[in-house]
Amino acid sequence: MLLQNKKALVTGSSRGIGRGIVESFIKNGCEVWGLCSKESAGKAELEALAKENGVAFHEIYADVGNAEQVTEVVKAALAEAGGFDVLVNNAGITRDGLSFRMKKTDWDDVLRINLTAAFLICQIVSNDMIRKRSGSIINMSSIVGVHGNGGQVNYAASKGGLIAYSKSLAAEVGGRGVRVNCIAPGFIETDMTNVLKEELKQAMIEKIPLKRPGTPEDVANTALYLASGLSSYVTAQVIGVDGGMGA
Ligand code: NAP
Repeated sequence: MLLQNKKALVTGSSRGIGRGIVESFIKNGCEVWGLCSKESAGKAELEALAKENGVAFHEIYADVGNAEQVTEVVKAALAEAGGFDVLVNNAGITRDGLSFRMKKTDWDDVLRINLTAAFLICQIVSNDMIRKRSGSIINMSSIVGVHGNGGQVNYAASKGGLIAYSKSLAAEVGGRGVRVNCIAPGFIETDMTNVLKEELKQAMIEKIPLKRPGTPEDVANTALYLASGLSSYVTAQVIGVDGGMGA
C-alpha cells in the first residue's frame, strides 16, 4: 500500500502501459482519475478493482491534443479531486515514416499529443502541487527519446523534448517539494507495438540483453516507485525500463 490516501491523474489509462499503471496504483491504495479519449473496454473492471481496494476509479475523457478540451477536463478533475499527489503523462501516439516523406500533420500531431499535452497538463496540476509543496510528476518518454531512431523523427523529437522539458521543470519546482521524472521504456508489448512485423519484433528481442519484450507491469513497477515516497530524493531523472536494450 505504497500510495494509501493518495490521488493520481494518469493519462492514456485505457490500454497498455497506462492501464498497467492504473491497476498498480489502485492496488496500492490510490484513488485514480484515468484520462483517455473515449470510454475504455476495461472501465467496469477498473471500477471493480478500485472497490475491492477501498478506493475509487474515475474515467474521464478528452483529446489531449485539443488544448481547450484537455485544459477544461483536467481543471474539472483537479477541482473534483481537491488536488493530485501524482501525475502521470502517459498518453502518446506514433506516426512513423522517413523524415523526407513525413507530412507536416504527422509531425504536428505527434508533438501536440506527446509533448505539448504534457506541458499543458503539468502547468495546471503542478501549480496546485507547488501550493501544497508536494507532488510527483512522471512523464512517459521512450528509449527513442534518448538514442533516436530512424523512421521516427517526430516521435523521437517529442520524447527527447519531454526529457529536456521534465529536467527543466524539475529544476523550477524542486524547491517547492515537487519531483519530476521520466520513464524511458524500451520495447513493451502493447497495441502500440503489436502493429510491428513479427520479424522486426524478433530482431528487437535479439538486441535486448534480457531477451524478452517488457510488459506494462514492468513499467508500472517503476511508475509506482517514482510515485511513492520510496523515491523521495529522486528528481530530474530518466529511468530506462528496457531490459538493457540501450546497452
Ligand atoms: P497504447 O497501447 O497505444 O495506448 C495509448 C494510450 O494513449 C491509450 O490509453 C489512448 O487512449 C491514449 N491516447 C492516445 N492519444 C490520445 C489522445 N489524443 N487523447 C487522449 N488519450 C490518448 O500505447 P502504450 O504502448 O501503452 O504507450 C503508452 C506510452 O508509453 C506512450 O506515451 C508511448 O509513447 C510510451 N512508450 C511505449 C513503448 C512501447 O513499447 N509500447 C515504448 C516506449 C514508450 P484511447 O484508448 O482512448 O485511444
